[in-house]
Amino acid sequence: MVDKIIFATGNEHKMVEIRMILKDLGAEILSQREAGIRADVVEDGATFEENALIKAKEIAREAGKLPGFENAVVLADDSGLEIDYLNKEPGIYSARYMGEDTSYDIKNQNLIDRLDNVPDEKRTARFVCAIAAAFPDGSSAVVRGTMEGIIGHEIIGENGFGYDPIFYLPEYGCTSAQLAPEKKNELSHRGEGLRKMRRILAEH
Ligand code: IMP
Repeated sequence: MVDKIIFATGNEHKMVEIRMILKDLGAEILSQREAGIRADVVEDGATFEENALIKAKEIAREAGKLPGFENAVVLADDSGLEIDYLNKEPGIYSARYMGEDTSYDIKNQNLIDRLDNVPDEKRTARFVCAIAAAFPDGSSAVVRGTMEGIIGHEIIGENGFGYDPIFYLPEYGCTSAQLAPEKKNELSHRGEGLRKMRRILAEH
């Protein structure tokens, strides 16, 4: 039975979603910061899965040194946007695309401009989220969640973050930045990944 989970993120928005989806496991869920773990992990993997595993294993090594956390499971995620027409850019570089400090208004407009005159059927894209678990016995697991959509022609919507305002969901007739937060959690790549991970943790 898993009784303590540390999630390798400092992002409070992610923690809210994680706590909501994993609460049925009955485990105590802490962020890396709450667990008092400071580590700057270099994400130099070639895929979302590799990066998530690198982060989870590194933080698990740190957790293993702390009293009270020897049996904790460490989870980590890595996510991003893949645009098919741009050979899956920005992909694992989504956060760093055009520079970490460049505003998303500029990044989003740049992607729209790069798809100028590209018809909707070629504007397919997806958000990807890999979630990795590092267990105290040294074993690990990784899952992937996705959300499919197309890149819109303008920046629309105030909810969400990052590339949400250009990520158009044809079935819903809006961008993911126009979805209510609960609806986005239900449909999102991170939500799907977390629900897959919940099944693995429940069986562990
Ligand atoms: P990370 O996994 O926290 O490193 O996030 C990777 C980057 O992918 C974010 O900084 C965003 O640019 C993008 N991204 C990941 N998930 C989403 C999402 O749900 N909406 C919008 N952008 C996202």
